[in-house]
Amino acid sequence: MHVSTNLISPPDSRNFRAALLRWYRRRGRDLPWRRTRDPYAILVSEFMLQQTQVATVLSYYNEWLRRWSDFSALARASESSVLHAWQGLGYYARARNLHATARIVVDRYGGHLPRTIARTRALPGIGRYSAHAIATFAFDQSVPIVEANTARVLSRLFNFRTPIDCTVGREALWNYAESLLPKRSARVYNSALLDLGALVCLPRQPKCAICPVKKFCRPKNPQTLPIKKIPRPPKELIEARAFTFRRNRILLEQSSGRWHGMWILPPARVRSVITRPIHTSIFPFTNHRITLKVFAQPAPRTRARGQGRWFSIAQLASIPLPSPHRRAVEQLLAKRPQKLGSTLAEA
Ligand code: SF4
Repeated sequence: MHVSTNLISPPDSRNFRAALLRWYRRRGRDLPWRRTRDPYAILVSEFMLQQTQVATVLSYYNEWLRRWSDFSALARASESSVLHAWQGLGYYARARNLHATARIVVDRYGGHLPRTIARTRALPGIGRYSAHAIATFAFDQSVPIVEANTARVLSRLFNFRTPIDCTVGREALWNYAESLLPKRSARVYNSALLDLGALVCLPRQPKCAICPVKKFCRPKNPQTLPIKKIPRPPKELIEARAFTFRRNRILLEQSSGRWHGMWILPPARVRSVITRPIHTSIFPFTNHRITLKVFAQPAPRTRARGQGRWFSIAQLASIPLPSPHRRAVEQLLAKRPQKLGSTLAEA
């Protein structure tokens, strides 16, 4: 395994930072979480940005802060309202972790986020990157950050040809990031490095011709970097769910699994393989590719259907429902009652 140990020399790293910062002052993104030093607001943005694009987060971030402006307000919120507000961002474990973090910060730290990385990392849902991001963006600590954008920039700058998704590769990237870090104003520098990855050093077609740090960059074919291990194909899963509609109400159950605490379509009891679903859609979930098949089912005779509960159509807007199930329900409700067949006719 090839691990480059060549670091950019200290004078070059100073010039590198100067070139990067000149560019950032003119071209850097004006993002709402960069206009604040409030640790709570920055923490919220970091939770939202895990696995979600900036453009999507923008439409959630301000509304979230308007509703829950600090740790105390979020700690007092119900889990249901938190999941509902998170709806559409996906990866709901982040919402539950953010909520749990708020409660711990209030109970243990009097509503103030701890300043040390070790303490921040001990909070639910905060890994190495998030802890460093909070330390640098909220407290301006001189610590490196490595996430998708900065990993790409660093692996290209250093012509790093080891897979970055293995332990050796990950550690090397953190070392490279550390080697370029300024002793002061790391907050601005780290923002600039992030933006270079997001705006110039793009995954498939890096814009080297206009890159402010081109003269420090080594590879001849940067678009082939970073190297990653060959991904395993996603696992295929089929989920059979029931659409039960009666007197303008729909039967849902509260998930105790993947979407813990959210309302979902209950499992379907499909008696025959020739039963046709009334809705089919495919969605990714972590390393799975899930085919959601929804079957029309009559209302159960008894109440022995787990945590099942009837909701009126109007109530659906105010309960947390994961996007794949919400889309299925909305499409089916739009078709009802003629096209769904007699099984959906009101009992
Ligand atoms: S020169 Fe090209 S590959 Fe190197 S950092 Fe700039 S955009 Fe990325």
